[in-house]
Amino acid sequence: MAIVQPIEADKGRRSLKISSPATMEKIGEVPVTTAAEVREAVARARGAQPLWAAKSFADRAKVMFRAVDILRAEQERYLSVLMRETGRSHFETLMMEVFPACDSLTWYAVNAERILVDKKPSLHLLKTKKLLITYRPLGVCGIITPWNGPFILGLNPAVQALMAGNAVVIKPSEVTPFSGALVGELFRAAGLPEDVLTVVHGDGETGAALVDSGVDKISFTGSVATGRKVGEACGRNLVPCTLELGGKDAMIVCADADLERAAGGAVFGSFFNAGQYCCGTERVYVVEAVAEEFTRRVVEKTRELRQETTGEFDLGPMIWPRQLETIERHMADAVTKGATVLVGGKRNAAAGELFYEPTVVVDVTHDMLLMQEETFGPILPIVKVKDDEAAIALANDSTYGLSGTVWSKDEVRAVGIAKRLDTGSVCINDSSITYGACEAPFGGRKSSGVGQVNGEIGLKGYCHAQPIVIDRFGTKKELVWYPYTADKEKVLQRVIRWVWGTPIGRWMS
Ligand code: NAD
Repeated sequence: MAIVQPIEADKGRRSLKISSPATMEKIGEVPVTTAAEVREAVARARGAQPLWAAKSFADRAKVMFRAVDILRAEQERYLSVLMRETGRSHFETLMMEVFPACDSLTWYAVNAERILVDKKPSLHLLKTKKLLITYRPLGVCGIITPWNGPFILGLNPAVQALMAGNAVVIKPSEVTPFSGALVGELFRAAGLPEDVLTVVHGDGETGAALVDSGVDKISFTGSVATGRKVGEACGRNLVPCTLELGGKDAMIVCADADLERAAGGAVFGSFFNAGQYCCGTERVYVVEAVAEEFTRRVVEKTRELRQETTGEFDLGPMIWPRQLETIERHMADAVTKGATVLVGGKRNAAAGELFYEPTVVVDVTHDMLLMQEETFGPILPIVKVKDDEAAIALANDSTYGLSGTVWSKDEVRAVGIAKRLDTGSVCINDSSITYGACEAPFGGRKSSGVGQVNGEIGLKGYCHAQPIVIDRFGTKKELVWYPYTADKEKVLQRVIRWVWGTPIGRWMS
């Protein structure tokens, strides 16, 4: 059974019926926002934005702090909506959604003014002028999100866009609309003025309508295939966008790694959110000297994992049948080509219809789908390599470049390897947690994305940095103004010779 089913509701309006991936029970129905309604939401947001932008950073921050208070006070209600729609455990939902939401709301509330306050850098050459850089909000930002972090992946960009003075229209994934709607609910309760943030619902059609609705920026998180379509539409509309897309993250285990920590990191990195994590560990390259012991520990830890629907457990279900089909296709290809399954390797029907056992695979080769395409499931393929060089070459031989991890007790060696990985970010001796570090710019390379979100760069991405150059002395005219004369040219030549032809001139530059 599908988790999201289109149904015809009242007066021909499309609705989506949503079911729990853990129990398959119906959760509810969500009316789809039409393209005309999306445009209306954007128009209302445009009307509300100037008043919001006119507020001080401190006033905007107050809304964020109130949102934290509400989220903390009503945590269980928020968690129950999220858990019902994703099937994740209480702990994982708290850790992945509520914890980073509190951090994001607070960090940007505290730091936005420092980052976005007008800057006055001194000019190295044009000494008769001064420069002011002012960070102006873009207007209305469209945020399109996936299902695998259905609250935080809408909230985090929204906080940044709002603190920068924008209005926001969010289109959550059609698979997790109730979790996405929590973002709107939270800001409304926190006192955000009406229409400054709206949540619209639906599938790709609604997402495409938002991209074409006249917004001033699109912040998209999702698959490579959809990212290409969104990027094309933004190009056509001349609208800036960030595209946060899929990955095939590699983990490199060096000979001097702490094997206990590395094995624990591999298991967490691969099975977190049942493997449905953009920066999940999808490939492990371990140096042959420690491969046997590392693999033994990984298998041991994997066997201990609990997969349930209630109580204390570690792994939940796949979000929908489509995800399960990808996993089974990749596993069948791997086994046909000679891979050996050490643990798992099949559905966990006892837990429920959409559960797949946490799986460790060896005898894996680079040509297998498991090593080439994003699996997005609880599969941990381990490849033995001769040395660090072989690991780096294989890790980089991918169309993806989102993140990756390096495990070694020698920080210099690990950083050296990290700097050679063609990925947006790298973690050393930890699974990929970069998205959770507010200060860290986050974004993929190659097919994994365009642009960066989060931190100073991300926040400034919701603004136009407008330089204002001001004349300082008010003289009657400038040297370069008309008339052009031979004498003026001599002066200009002298300046060129002095500024770019002498050590002191270069030093001043
Ligand atoms: P998806 O691309 O299928 O959908 C993402 C969103 O785009 C949904 O809201 C969907 O309704 C919408 N959409 C679909 N077609 C559209 C169109 N033509 N125009 C505009 N919007 C459209 O992705 P998904 O299956 O929901 O999410 C899983 C993917 O997201 C994985 O590939 C994962 O790696 C990636 N992801 C990336 C990051 C990151 O930060 N790089 C984070 C989380 C997830």
